[in-house]
Amino acid sequence: MMAQYFSLKADHTDKLVFYRMGDFYELFYEDAVKAARLLDITLTTRGSSAGEPIKMCGIPFHSLEPYLAKLVKLGESIAICEQIGDPATSKGPVERKVMRVVTPGTLTDAALLDDKQENRLLALRFVKGRLGMAWLSLASGDFALMDSDVEKIGSELERLRPAEILVPEGTELALLDQLRIPVRKIASWQFENDSAQRNLSRHFSVHDLSGFGVNNDMLALGAAGALLDYVRSTQGGSLPALDGLRVESTTQYIELDAATRRNLEITETIRGETAPTLFSLLDQCATGMGSRLLAHWLHHPLRQHHKIIERQDAISTLIEQARGETLYPVLREIADIERIVSRIALRSARPRDLASLRSSLQVLPQLAAQLPHNGLFRGLAAALNAEPAIASLLQAAIQAEPGVLIREGGVIADGYSRDLDELRHIQSNCGDFLTQLELRERERTGISSLRVEYNRVAGFFIEVTNSYLSQVPEDYRRRQTMKNAERYITPELKQFEEKALSANERALALEKQLYEGLIEALQVHLSTLRLAGQAVATLDVLVCLAQRAELSGYIAPHFCDDAVLHIEAGRHPVVEAQIDDFIPNSAEFHLARKLLLITGPNMGGKSTYMRQVALIVLLAHIGSYVPAQSAKIGRVDRIFTRIGASDDLAGGRSTFMVEMTETANILNNANEYSLVLMDEVGRGTSTFDGLALAWSIARALIEKNRSYTLFATHYFELTRLAQDYPQVSNVHLDAVEHKDKIIFLHAVQEGPASQSYGIAVASLAGVPRDVVRQAKRKLLDLEQNSLQNGPQADLFAVNHYDEAMELELHPAVEALQDINADELSPRDALALIYRLQALI
Ligand code: ADP
Repeated sequence: MMAQYFSLKADHTDKLVFYRMGDFYELFYEDAVKAARLLDITLTTRGSSAGEPIKMCGIPFHSLEPYLAKLVKLGESIAICEQIGDPATSKGPVERKVMRVVTPGTLTDAALLDDKQENRLLALRFVKGRLGMAWLSLASGDFALMDSDVEKIGSELERLRPAEILVPEGTELALLDQLRIPVRKIASWQFENDSAQRNLSRHFSVHDLSGFGVNNDMLALGAAGALLDYVRSTQGGSLPALDGLRVESTTQYIELDAATRRNLEITETIRGETAPTLFSLLDQCATGMGSRLLAHWLHHPLRQHHKIIERQDAISTLIEQARGETLYPVLREIADIERIVSRIALRSARPRDLASLRSSLQVLPQLAAQLPHNGLFRGLAAALNAEPAIASLLQAAIQAEPGVLIREGGVIADGYSRDLDELRHIQSNCGDFLTQLELRERERTGISSLRVEYNRVAGFFIEVTNSYLSQVPEDYRRRQTMKNAERYITPELKQFEEKALSANERALALEKQLYEGLIEALQVHLSTLRLAGQAVATLDVLVCLAQRAELSGYIAPHFCDDAVLHIEAGRHPVVEAQIDDFIPNSAEFHLARKLLLITGPNMGGKSTYMRQVALIVLLAHIGSYVPAQSAKIGRVDRIFTRIGASDDLAGGRSTFMVEMTETANILNNANEYSLVLMDEVGRGTSTFDGLALAWSIARALIEKNRSYTLFATHYFELTRLAQDYPQVSNVHLDAVEHKDKIIFLHAVQEGPASQSYGIAVASLAGVPRDVVRQAKRKLLDLEQNSLQNGPQADLFAVNHYDEAMELELHPAVEALQDINADELSPRDALALIYRLQALI
């Protein structure tokens, strides 16, 4: 047996092998040690191999799922090895085979998947600075590819959040080692375009892939080929029927880099928690499909205004016609059609999946009937009114409440198959036959306590208590002896037993066959079903956004193609939901006002204000209403943020290094259609260093990038920029000091702030009183000193800077500039040389 185990294990060295032995899955050696630790189960030893005791642990087969779920969550992959031979007839160990490989990126089991999260497998390859990516969500059937630049890898990973990554062997990328995502290395020949092209064309039964918009020289093509091979190997050789391939392009969506996705706390807080985030606030979706789509929309804000407006119009209609309340309860009745459909495609759908698909499909026409008749809804209604034949088929084929497992029967409905009905009839007549037999035998023998019964171990029998044994007729054959009774069988009963038991076995076999036939028959409907699932998800998100808009008083933003942003009385959606009195604030950008320099005390609301602008812009671009009184939004292609101090210690970069890396990315990539948030840049270094950097970064943003910029800073010196650049406006947040306390007003006002209140905030935070007192005294000193040396702000006047730092001339040069060479006498010239030498 161990020899058999080793040969199976040899093909799955990087996975935990679950080796089926009777009612248990056993793990051995290193696998056992690891699994025992991860699953917190007992590690034992049993027997020995090559003189060493065999380490082992095991789990009961019927509770496989929760253990798998736990391991997969920890990033492990598992090869499940089943007994396929018959233990009764095999010589030596029963034949076994790895029937299924479960990896984090290829899950389809309902029990293992998170309802609200897409589970993606991502394949990557890098060639000469380019990045090819292909990703597949096996549970929803979405298969996409895209070519990009290597530098984008961070933001792409943040956007796609894969559960597992495949790369060619030999790929060296530090970033991948730092991730907490399992990375699997695959032979690099599997990433070749030629074979991928053949492989995919065959899979989709097309001549070539151009119909999907795939070029043969896309790097991503090879990645898609490797990905498909890998998935096939985990699913026991069968592949899901995927609808098709999607080519994504970077120009479809507003670009958000990795830092921005984190900083805006879209689906995860900066600390890595799931709430409170924009998603956790908005997600009141009725279905898991809706929640997943909402998260996708939030990470993929659209650029094209007409597409956004389609969604926005749909939300407006839902609000105007008050459809949300009626649609929501109907949506709630709908099961996760997308995931069930994928399990049907993989032929792993369980009976109850089909029952919930059926009840969901029965609800869809009702849902479609309730939809408004305009815009997006027309397409959605068409998708919802899918093939009614599918629901009828399921209705006819599956029992109202089917059993859990097909092998235990009770799944196929009565009337679906005449043969099955007959076999079942025999079984259900069993009871009648037994009562009649009992009556007859009592009469014949005169034993009134005689009973005819059945149990699993003994089968059918006639039981006679010991006191009546003398009355037992000749044709009774003893079957079993009990303490107070004997059990018998008669030829008639024996014959019945054979018929009944075989009927049962045949019924089960037939049911299984019918079920497989049904799953097969459903294959042609997969894309119809998927479209219906997507329609439900879309509707769910629209209803959710409409309800949020009504509940929280959001409005529909207007779009235009100019470089403007005008938000009147905007609010931060997440902060607003957490506090009682949120103060709304406006923000305005146009060609003559492109950078807002925000000053004000710590805790004054600077970060909240900046993020609220970005979140409003983001929400507007997914088609949602936004928290403001009015909003006019021009063209925005990218959002960049540099917010807060976060150490990337795991990545070996200090706070300041992180800050400057993010800043470099912004300065190199932001353009006039980018929205840029800069919070306290330059904070991580010494004051003058920081001030100088902040100043030159702000200038670059104004002069070169020309982005819509919100620039919060505690360097008051920078407020001078407004004098030199008409595009810069100072705004500030205020606070008032009241008897040693400080009250934040949270209202954004024009003009620079007057003081920083840093010391007041320190005191508010509980810094000991004498420290605060000393700080106040020191501050006074510093301020007086700097007055004596002239106002520091002047150092940063633009002209002054240029002359002083770039054009400052050597006195010798100045002396030379002052003379007129033609008028010099030889003697003066000699004197000049002496002077210049002295100056040097
Ligand atoms: P800063 O960036 O200036 O240090 P924050 O933006 O972090 O300040 O805001 C500090 C706190 O002030 C927030 O946690 C929030 O509770 C509150 N706050 C911020 N903006 C507002 C507002 N507009 N209305 C009410 N409270 C606000």
